[in-house]
Amino acid sequence: MDQHPRFGPAGVPAVFRLADATLADVPRLLREEGLDAFEYEAVKWGKKPQINREDAERLGLEARRNDVWLSLHGSYFINFCGERTIVEASKQRLIACTTAARWMDAHVVVFHPGAYGKNPPEEALTKCLRALREVVESLKSLGIEGVKLGPETMGKVHQLGNLDEVLNICETVEQTQLVVDWSHLHARDGGRFRTVEDFRKVIDQIERRLGTAAVKHIHCHFTKIEFTEKGEKRHHMLEESHYGPDFRLLAKAIIEFDLKPIIISESPILDLDAIKMRDMLNEELNKG
Ligand SMILES: [Zn+2]
Repeated sequence: MDQHPRFGPAGVPAVFRLADATLADVPRLLREEGLDAFEYEAVKWGKKPQINREDAERLGLEARRNDVWLSLHGSYFINFCGERTIVEASKQRLIACTTAARWMDAHVVVFHPGAYGKNPPEEALTKCLRALREVVESLKSLGIEGVKLGPETMGKVHQLGNLDEVLNICETVEQTQLVVDWSHLHARDGGRFRTVEDFRKVIDQIERRLGTAAVKHIHCHFTKIEFTEKGEKRHHMLEESHYGPDFRLLAKAIIEFDLKPIIISESPILDLDAIKMRDMLNEELNKG
């Protein structure tokens, strides 16, 4: 496992697209920027992988060659708390995403577990756990066991995915790995991250529930975020001082706990803010 924190963008940076880069060029271009993680966006996928196997394998090969850590963001069209037909379709979508992740040799498929809908939260969680266990069974029968399923902490109050719920999923379903979107937690809980201690509390809680190894290489999303009483509204750039949370506070906590996280930038300026976060962490490290 890695001995250093990693940083990268969620999706292909605009400047790469403007330069007509192919997907296979992305790991090398990230490496040239001094970045070392990439989250492939499969967010609009239906029940079949929307990348061919050859392109996926090529991306995986280039990622290994350039030492870029790969993850895949699964389809947004997933709701494990819905009606049976919706749950079944969601299972197929997550399996399709995981199939492609296997082709790429990506480490984790990030996904949004669902929305409470008319269910009381406990029932929504029960439904979600049942569906996920069925997905894991299917993945086993397909021989796809190397990729983790990563439930993400969600930013809106109507979505299943507060910290306790995703911890519960990771405690009780095999082949899962926690994904912490710090901005979502911030938005959902009315701006909870104001001090280093606020970050410490969450890291402690994860460590108590999932163990030291799980928190050490935690897969994270980070951006600045705007929110209302319903939670997440919009992602913002790091330089927008009006919005939180402040990455420097998380950087201090990362150093204190000696974490080696993978930090994915979902900022409007994807790679540029990933670089900025990397530099902020290094600055904090050099203060020693
Ligand atoms: Zn997400």
